[in-house]
Amino acid sequence: MKSEKDYKILTVDDAKDTLMLLEFDLVEQGYQVLTAESGEAAFKILEDDVIDLILLDMYMPGISGLATLQKLKSRSELAHIPVIMLSSSDDEDQIVAALEFGADDYVTKPYIAKVLLARLKTSLRLMEKTLELESLAKTDFLTGLNNRGCFVDLATKAISQAKRTGLPLVMVMLDIDFFKQVNDDFGHDAGDKVLIDFSKVLLECFRDYDISGRVGGEEFAVCMPNTSIDNAVIACERFRAALEAHNVVISADGKLVNVTVSIGLVTQRNGELDLESLLHQADMGLYQAKENGRNQVMIWDSLIDDEFSESAELIVESTSEESYDSDDINMPVELTKAGSETSITEKYAGIDYSVGVNNVLGDDGLFAEILVMFHEDHSQDKNKIQQAIIDNDYNALKHMVHTLKGVACSIGAMSLFNLAKALDIAVNEQNQEQYQGLFAPVANELDKVVNGIEATLADKINSNS
Ligand code: GH3
Ligand code: MG
Ligand code: MG
Repeated sequence: MKSEKDYKILTVDDAKDTLMLLEFDLVEQGYQVLTAESGEAAFKILEDDVIDLILLDMYMPGISGLATLQKLKSRSELAHIPVIMLSSSDDEDQIVAALEFGADDYVTKPYIAKVLLARLKTSLRLMEKTLELESLAKTDFLTGLNNRGCFVDLATKAISQAKRTGLPLVMVMLDIDFFKQVNDDFGHDAGDKVLIDFSKVLLECFRDYDISGRVGGEEFAVCMPNTSIDNAVIACERFRAALEAHNVVISADGKLVNVTVSIGLVTQRNGELDLESLLHQADMGLYQAKENGRNQVMIWDSLIDDEFSESAELIVESTSEESYDSDDINMPVELTKAGSETSITEKYAGIDYSVGVNNVLGDDGLFAEILVMFHEDHSQDKNKIQQAIIDNDYNALKHMVHTLKGVACSIGAMSLFNLAKALDIAVNEQNQEQYQGLFAPVANELDKVVNGIEATLADKINSNS
């Protein structure tokens, strides 16, 4: 429950004596008070301070009280602030006009302190109730997170701001793994408890200014403004691990249930995507995370930029692998066009052609272009990685290995992927001995892939360089 000292009241009157009186009476009650001698001065204060209620004189030189009121109500960020008009006469027409313009109440001058204070209290209470109702309309009743509508509103705003500022933004989709099983095994109430705890852990793992929402039954989204994809992955991974470690108490006798989450994310680059596309792409990443075995984070990225077709989007990275045993790799093959090319293994040395070409919906020409791009971007990675190891440039090393791993996966270079993945884990664990040992096999395999591409696509590579 708020008390008087929690409220900031702005009094606006050209008559200094009235201002002093008002201030005295309000401060005595415990309110915080700011004063302005004109409408213009009031707007200056409103720019810097969060005001809970305005006492506004009807007659002032400069912009009149009525005009000030109109202007206040036309500004979306100020319109919710209750306004009580102070009128020196009981000029009915003016009072009616003020009420029509959105004033909450009026008090005639000279005012009776008791009456003024009572009306002020009522206005504040009304405002509080309104805010409460508005917040209820935006909140998911079960989890307390933003509901879908509110999430959409907030995320849309964040996306247009990201477009204006050019700052990166990441969209994340999350879906509880095998949630239906929780309902089936333990009942719907247990399922609800899981959703509540899921949301709590989610809020703990993301920053305050990340926008999170429950967008479906057991589907959640987080919009992360001003966030690089790397940092977003870190946050998602932190959440994934925290949820995995969290036990939900589902009954009075302390029965515990544990769930995991699959997460897909995508970054907004060059401000080219709208909310719908971002959610869709994050959802594709999520889908791949499910396909890949669940309980993991997957970035969806359109490696291939505008010059290529829109459908040519690839998974470039996956995280949260617990082991780097080649047997547990389950490639994202669900994007395969029915009836597309069957495996012509070793068309390119070190590359599983069917996996690679399936990642681009079976488009052989496009796959070749991607391989040329891979060649262009990564044929020197061996030297660069080696240099980073020598220089102890940990950040560069981490970045290069991580990227190489992701790209190897998307072109179907499975051995390279497995080796790079092992190297990636060693680097992330800062296990120097291990990553130095893993460098040579990665370098050899990369050579094999690079040479394989050169052997088949020499003409394209040359014409590109
Ligand atoms: P997957 O790993 O593929 O996501 O498997 P899943 O079982 O989680 O997937 P599916 O989408 O089939 O199941 C979602 C379930 O979520 C079905 C639905 O009954 C349940 N659900 C949706 N909303 C609520 C809710 O508010 N409370 C509870 N208890 N369950 C809900
Ligand atoms: Mg699910
Ligand atoms: Mg689902």
